Amino acid sequence: MALKTAKEYLDSMKKLSPRVYCGGKWVKNLLNNKITRSMVMANAAIYELAEDPKYKEVMVGTSHLTGEPINRNLNVARNIHDLDMRQEMALLTSQTVGTCNYRCVGCDALNSLASTTWEMDRDLKTKYNERFNKWLAFAQANDLAVSGAITDAKGDRKKRPSQQDEPDAFVHLVEKRDDGIVVRGIKVSQSGAIGSHETLVLPGGALREGEEAFALAFAVQNSVPGLTYICQYNAYSAEREFCEDESELGTPIYGQRETSTMVFDNVFIPWERVFLCGETKFCGKMVTRFAKAHRMNCGGACKVGFADLIIGGTVLAAEYTGVDKVPHIQEKIIDMVRYSETSHACAIAAAMRGREEPKGSGVFLPDDLFGNAAKLNIAHGFWEIIKNAGDIGGGLVVTMPRQKDLEDPEVGPMLKKAFAAAAPADKRLKVAKFLQHWSAGLHGTGTWHGAGAPQTQRFMISVLTDFDAKKKMAKKLMGMKEG
Ligand SMILES: Cc1cc2nc3c(=O)[nH]c(=O)nc-3n(C[C@H](O)[C@H](O)[C@H](O)COP(=O)(O)OP(=O)(O)OC[C@H]3O[C@@H](n4cnc5c(N)ncnc54)[C@H](O)[C@@H]3O)c2cc1C
Repeated sequence: MALKTAKEYLDSMKKLSPRVYCGGKWVKNLLNNKITRSMVMANAAIYELAEDPKYKEVMVGTSHLTGEPINRNLNVARNIHDLDMRQEMALLTSQTVGTCNYRCVGCDALNSLASTTWEMDRDLKTKYNERFNKWLAFAQANDLAVSGAITDAKGDRKKRPSQQDEPDAFVHLVEKRDDGIVVRGIKVSQSGAIGSHETLVLPGGALREGEEAFALAFAVQNSVPGLTYICQYNAYSAEREFCEDESELGTPIYGQRETSTMVFDNVFIPWERVFLCGETKFCGKMVTRFAKAHRMNCGGACKVGFADLIIGGTVLAAEYTGVDKVPHIQEKIIDMVRYSETSHACAIAAAMRGREEPKGSGVFLPDDLFGNAAKLNIAHGFWEIIKNAGDIGGGLVVTMPRQKDLEDPEVGPMLKKAFAAAAPADKRLKVAKFLQHWSAGLHGTGTWHGAGAPQTQRFMISVLTDFDAKKKMAKKLMGMKEG
């Protein structure tokens, strides 16, 4: 079985028993808790997309290990077309669920692992790539949902991992045994890890000699002893948890982007699942290759899918209040499209200019400069997009009453009178609630930090851009002598 159905994925979740804490209580069953269920349902929807013949080209790839059809979330890109379809998948999944494709980080992590373990085996004569391929073949054959854990808790950002007062601020090695390794430490902001069969854990950044204990990459199974997931919790979580009727929420089924803090308390990882252990020299490459893939997808395509939804909601809001033909409204909507489509263009360019890395590995990674430009552009553009959504949606986006109040025999008629415009009040409130979710919720900051805080993209752009070449061009045109 190479492709799981949504139902098979949901059944597989019922068999897992992760140690999950959410909003003050332990969650026994992910599907019985309103918050964790929204995450699992989003993953199920991603499985469903791969079942739809209409989306086959985008959602289904071919395993380079077995030649079998596989979910693209488990595909290693082998050519430009794969890269292009990968970014299209990020777009499609965001447009469909309005939250994370929770298999996205794992997909980019496994592409980095495919490339970097190949290089390690070539240079160090290790067997990491062989091991990784065995694990990948297993993941593909069982169509596993795999999340990706890169971000360590990090502690004091001025200090190196080994200088932290709290040693668990970074995931690290505790013991090497004949049968595997024991690890502990904390990864934060982990998208959809609770509802994934496995998580790929990568180092959080480049490491130096002497930092071998932090140089770790491995696959960890959901529900293994010693692993605890502590879910994010905020006003939107509370609203979902305590509302009478989820259909009143901004995005009723799939909710906000759900992350958790993953705490590794002496977790045992068998050697078959360890893909880097102590090789500090390769950590920078592993993280950079992950970031390269993730910035194209997360920055240049996923958030563009969100923007499409916000733009759709905003146009509806304009129609419902009767301002859709007003020039400044139209101009703002065109600006929203401009911000999002330029990011998508960068993602497409990153895919088209992708190349095999390293040569001989067979693994294709996107162009780094375009990927970083995509992410940096949307990090800024997204605030503009949600600003315009708030502008056009009006104060109602944040001042609206509960939608259910429209049905109240006493206040309902007053509210219907107050909020009817070019469309009835119920339509206006529905769209206002949708825009509230996007513009007054978690998405601005989420977009800013997801795939790395923008300062990291600025740094990469400064390194990747050939400023000397540009100076030369300018000098030549000005007729200036070299020097
Ligand atoms: C919605 C969401 C989903 C996410 N999903 C995942 C996921 O699935 N997997 C995963 O691994 N991660 C995930 N992340 C984490 C994401 O990659 C991080 O949020 C991002 O890398 C920033 O790290 P941080 O949150 O620790 O912020 P910080 O590191 O605390 O950054 C805060 C500020 O300090 C600056 N700063 C930090 N350190 C330094 C330094 N040493 N020198 C100079 N300036 C510094 C930053 O540039 C930024 O301006 C997710 C984040 C979000 C918001």
